[in-house]
Amino acid sequence: MTGPAHVKRSAWRAAMHHAADVARASGREAIGWLLGFFEGDEPYVLDAVPATRYQHQSRYGAVADPAEEAEIAMQYPRNVGIVGLYHSHPFRDETRHAIFHSTTDDATLKSRASRRENYLSLVTDGRSAECFVHREGGPVEVSPAIEEDLSMAGHLRKFTASVSPSVSLTLAKTDLAGVVAALERRVSSDLDRVLRSASVGSASVRLDGFGGEAHRNRLLIEPEGAGYGVELSLHLEPLVFVAGKDDAEVLRAMRNEILDDVLFLLWRGFDPASVSLEGAERFEANLGTLRVHEGSLLPKKLYRAPKRATVLRRRA
Ligand SMILES: [Zn+2]
Repeated sequence: MTGPAHVKRSAWRAAMHHAADVARASGREAIGWLLGFFEGDEPYVLDAVPATRYQHQSRYGAVADPAEEAEIAMQYPRNVGIVGLYHSHPFRDETRHAIFHSTTDDATLKSRASRRENYLSLVTDGRSAECFVHREGGPVEVSPAIEEDLSMAGHLRKFTASVSPSVSLTLAKTDLAGVVAALERRVSSDLDRVLRSASVGSASVRLDGFGGEAHRNRLLIEPEGAGYGVELSLHLEPLVFVAGKDDAEVLRAMRNEILDDVLFLLWRGFDPASVSLEGAERFEANLGTLRVHEGSLLPKKLYRAPKRATVLRRRA
């Protein structure tokens, strides 16, 4: 890391208050996540959220539910979200120095650092805190720069794209999970093709061949010959945030964001395992909408479920 870890004062305080509250209420360790972004190799922490579900929680150790971490990670667009974690050592009264990075703490950090270098680990006794990153050989303490005003502005550039294609394919008879898997592969390869001729403007990405007329997210399956005709209409408003100046980085972020959205809608819109296509004359799934809401601290993805998710008509 070339510079310090940047931490907004309100996030720093939120982590410590959470730790102190849990220590007061139950004497147990508290865990939470640090939210923000990376600029180069430096983490910027703008917000902190407490874990609400634990696999186990005691005075000398705790493990957060990994599903909650995954749910939080999914709520943010690419390059924004979890940049570290915090936890507490609520035993200030038992030792002269309760803030240290234990072997267990380092194992946890090492697993996260394998996903992202300079992933931060903040340890607090509820009154003060220290920050660590993982390096070969163990934890290294880094000095945080606590900053009053910290925002994404000036650090990340924002890019939109207009994405409303209809994707049609014909499939041999399969189940709904098979249809969804085929669509994943198709959208992924279409995206690769479209991106080869994409151009990056000052605030938007032009994806020729991915525009179109679709005005909502919908999956339609009808019998066709011995198999199925499948049509996936997409109306997405992807928003990505990129720190680098490199167009390739913008395109990579946009590709992954669009694919994230499509997979989220396909798997969230309905449960493929609960619907049988056997004898179906028409199956329609409204997949809801996904929008990025630019909050005061960090942009967040909001999913709106459809009023009526699926309609299945069988042959009489
Ligand atoms: Zn610890």
